[in-house]
Order: sequence, then C-alpha cells, then structure tokens
Amino acid sequence: MLMKSREYWNPWMETLNRERLLEIEFRNFRKYMRYAKGHSPLYRKKLDGIEPEDIQTREDLRRLPLTDKEDLRLAQEGDGESLYGDLLGVDLTEVSDYRQTSGTTGKPVYVPESYESWQWRVEVWCHILWMAGFRETDRVFVPFGYNVYVAFWEGHYAAEKLGCEVVPGGALDTRGRINKMMEIGATATLNTPTYGLHMAETAKKMGVDPKEIGIRRMQCAGEPLPQATRRLLENIWGAEVYDHIGGTEPCAWAAMCGQRQGLHILEPFFLVEILDLEDQSREVKEGELGMAVVTPLGRHSFPLIRFNTQDVVKKGKEGCPCGRTSLMISEVTGRADHLRKIRGVLFTPVSVEEILREEFPEINEYEITVAKKGLMDEISLKLEPHEKLGPTASAGLANRIGERLKMKTNLRFNIEFADPGELPRYTLKSQRFKDLRGE
Ligand SMILES: [Zn+2]
Repeated sequence: MLMKSREYWNPWMETLNRERLLEIEFRNFRKYMRYAKGHSPLYRKKLDGIEPEDIQTREDLRRLPLTDKEDLRLAQEGDGESLYGDLLGVDLTEVSDYRQTSGTTGKPVYVPESYESWQWRVEVWCHILWMAGFRETDRVFVPFGYNVYVAFWEGHYAAEKLGCEVVPGGALDTRGRINKMMEIGATATLNTPTYGLHMAETAKKMGVDPKEIGIRRMQCAGEPLPQATRRLLENIWGAEVYDHIGGTEPCAWAAMCGQRQGLHILEPFFLVEILDLEDQSREVKEGELGMAVVTPLGRHSFPLIRFNTQDVVKKGKEGCPCGRTSLMISEVTGRADHLRKIRGVLFTPVSVEEILREEFPEINEYEITVAKKGLMDEISLKLEPHEKLGPTASAGLANRIGERLKMKTNLRFNIEFADPGELPRYTLKSQRFKDLRGE
C-alpha cells in the first residue's frame, strides 16, 4: 500500500528497489533506442548495425558510440530541412518550444521541444524542486530574464505545476529585484551561485541584511556549486541552498535532497553511466571520479543517446537516509573541458573556489589565468577583497592563500589583488578561469 506522502513527489518511483529500477531503465532504454533509430536521422546513421535487443547489460551499452556536443553541432548542419537538421525526432509541426545551449564553448545547439517532450522535462524538474522542499505555500522569485535558456523555464513551469506562485523577475536591475522580493514576500528563488552572491552583496550595500529578505530556499542552476560556496550562500541568506546538475541537451539529471549530501541521479528518467576518464570502456566504482554519460529516456523531439556531458563527478552510494533508492553522486568536480594539466599536474578551478570560499571570507571574487612563460606554465590568481587592503595585510593574505593552494593543488600561484568591484560580475555563466596557452 502506498502511503500518501509529503516527502516524495512520486513515492512509488522514488523508493522502488534497485532491481526493479534498473529493469525499467533498460526496458525504456531499448524502447527509446528503437524510437531514435526510427525517427532521428542522426541516430539512424550512428546506431546502424546495432539493434535495441542487443542491449541487455551495462557492458552492452559500451557497444554504442558516445554523442558529443560536436556531433550535435554537425548534425544540426545536416540534411534535415529544418533549423534543427538531423537532430529533430518529430515532425516540425509538433515543435512547440525553441531552446538553445548557451554557446560558451562554440556555436549554440538549437533544441526543439514538442509539447510532450517539454512536459517530460517539467516533470523531471518537479522532482528536483520537491526534493528541495518547494511546496504550494512558496512564492518563487526568478531573478533573470530567461531568454532561450532552458533551466529557468523548466524551474518556472515545474514550480507552477507543484502549485507554487511563480514571479518572473526579468526586467529589473538587482536593486529592483531585491526590493520586489521584499515587497511581495518571496520565500524561495531559483538562482545561479554567482548571482546569489552578487545579490547578497548588493542587498548589503542597500543596508539590507540578505537574511531579512525572507528567502527560505534557493535552487541553484547554471554553474558548478562547490560545497563551500553552497554553505556560504546558506549562511549569507539564512536559507537552504540546493544544487543540481544537468544541461540543455539532456535536461537536469541529478539533484540534492533535504540531506544536502551529494546528488540523487533522477532514475528512472535517466540512464547514467560514470565512465573512467582514461578508459571509456569501464565504469568507475564507488568513490572514484568519472565522466557522466547520460541518456534521457523519454524525449522524442530531440533524441539523445549516451550524451557525453563532460561533467566530472564522483560516484556515490545507492540509496540515502531520505529513503530514495537512486544512485548518488557524492561530488561534482567540474567539467572535463576545465580539467587541465599544468606543469604535469591535473588541475580543476573548482579546487581554488573551495579554498577561497571556505577559508578566506575576506575574498569576494577571483580570476584564474594560465599562460605560457617561455616553456613554463604560469598560473596567476587575481583576488578581489571585499574591502581594500593595505600592503602589509595584502602580502600576509597572499602568503597564506598561496600556501593553502600549494598544499591542495601542488601548484604555485602568482597572486595579485584587484580593487573592490574591479573584476567582472556574471549572472548566467561565470568565466573565472582562462587558459591562454593555446592548447
Ligand atoms: Zn536523499
């Protein structure tokens, strides 16, 4: 008997035993693969010679090629007559919504959504927001003009479906948004980590303690959210702050529950593989880092099989004290395209953010630049403090930060200081890491 639950959005599905869950995922994978081969010109070519019946185990999945972002860009330029080229999986007349990727790493990918596929994404997001404690009593403020970017639209429609009251906060500046949230008594928000920090900074300048604004929960999107930054946001806002991971192409595929320890893979909406970074024919074990490869099992307008997300994550346990049985991701380390070898050492910019946010509250913003000096890689870190520091204080702080970074990353940083307010502020996609080595 199912108990009526306030805990879960879909009590049956979220607490299903692992065996049943995997059975459903594989059955749906084969069904989805058949659909993709029949309707998507991209997959008609890509999966030629392999039949859905051939895929019975996780090892069998490795017989199918990965799909990279570049494959999607090329397919978009393909023979299909519409804007979407060989990516489209339904008749063009069925497309009800246009979305696109941000294009930070090249030409954007155009993403067609049929009404049915869009509702699938919205349902996934209902799980995310419900897990984060969003309820019908919440008034959700979204402090962005969402344009064609998908995550805030998904959050908007999902919050509406849960019964929240949704307030789009696009055509206002940051001060206007803060005033609006206080005026209407907003209780929850969708935000990017960077903009969450920036809003708090602006509120303080207005003489408002961000805690007084009354936001009780914040779902973050759009950027990696290291634990230290998440905790910092929680302290500043006096709110519960939740992370998820996903992208425009596959949708959001893992998210935090109330325990706020790692992320639940949203099974059985997605079949997720976490592959060894060097050897892509092997899945990693619990506690190991790997690259997430995601198949969304139900989107027909934009079929996508084994999408290489480039997200580097640490595989966690099956199940969680919250009662959900899905596989966990214990940590999101960053993006593989941000992983760099510097002087032979593997480096991810998130490790710098972790240390700064956790241990050096004097620092507000930062920027990392890697460049070649002669034959050597040089790594520079520009730090922006909240308040201008004198020369002695700066030198002392630079020393302490440099030592901590050396311990954590095995690299030596050239540290300099910027004036308060000097470094750029980002709202949607922060770019605090620049590699100028031309690799
Ligand atoms: Zn949980």
